[in-house]
Amino acid sequence: MEALENNVAIVTGGARGIGRAITTELVNDGAHVIVFDKSFPDDFEAFAGPLRATGRTLAAKEVDITDTGATEKACEEVAAEFGQIDILVNNAGITRDRLLPRMSEAEWDAVLAVNLKGAFNTIRVVAKTMMSKRRGKIINISSVIGLMGNAGQANYAASKAGLFGLTKSAAKELAGRKINVNCVAPGFVETEMTAVLNEDQRKQLLALIPLKRTSRPEEIAGIVAFLASEKASYITGQVIAIDGGITM
Ligand code: NAD
Repeated sequence: MEALENNVAIVTGGARGIGRAITTELVNDGAHVIVFDKSFPDDFEAFAGPLRATGRTLAAKEVDITDTGATEKACEEVAAEFGQIDILVNNAGITRDRLLPRMSEAEWDAVLAVNLKGAFNTIRVVAKTMMSKRRGKIINISSVIGLMGNAGQANYAASKAGLFGLTKSAAKELAGRKINVNCVAPGFVETEMTAVLNEDQRKQLLALIPLKRTSRPEEIAGIVAFLASEKASYITGQVIAIDGGITM
């Protein structure tokens, strides 16, 4: 029996990058996964096919998590179809980097809407299903930038630090119903989000990382799957940095 056999999971932003690696890990551990994403790349079906061959569900739902009504509806559809939601991974995130004096209100609002309000939009609905079943694991994907701050990323850092407060408050509210809520804070992960960095920026970042390398999405996904499993049943309200030592 796999660690997550018969679990039903929602992964936001799972169409690519870290969310795709998390989806792979959860399906391979036995879970049925419903990916919420605002857009799915052309290769998504080719990615999903072999995972579906395991006999587990891997469904793609087009949802913009900043749309409160649409997100609520999508979560309720999953609950109605499967009768349970055991795992929620709030992974969708965006950057709109600019130094503060030049940052527009739209850039601030866009990042807060996806990275922080998006997680609120899913948790408030999914928590109801989890509470009724007295079980659940919620994992929010934050960032070391939320712990350290970064010039040019005030909106991103604020949204990711906001997830720490959301995680700890939700953990306290939901603990009585046997729901664990945790946060992971990745460092520099090789995805399309970080592919935009130039050589100089990469060199500067690498110089700060004690392990002297970036990470692969799979190195984040394994910890998320662990937090989603019963092995992590006594961990709640925590922030786990997965960052090659950058924040120690
Ligand atoms: P990515 O850009 O490759 O993937 C993000 C996914 O989120 C995309 O599929 C995108 O379509 C989806 N998304 C964006 N806005 C959405 C919305 N409104 N509704 C639904 N889906 C939406 O990014 P990634 O590097 O895989 O990052 C995943 C998460 O990890 C993000 O929260 C990011 O902040 C965080 N993170 C990434 C790194 C890194 O180095 N890559 C480091 C720390 C934290």
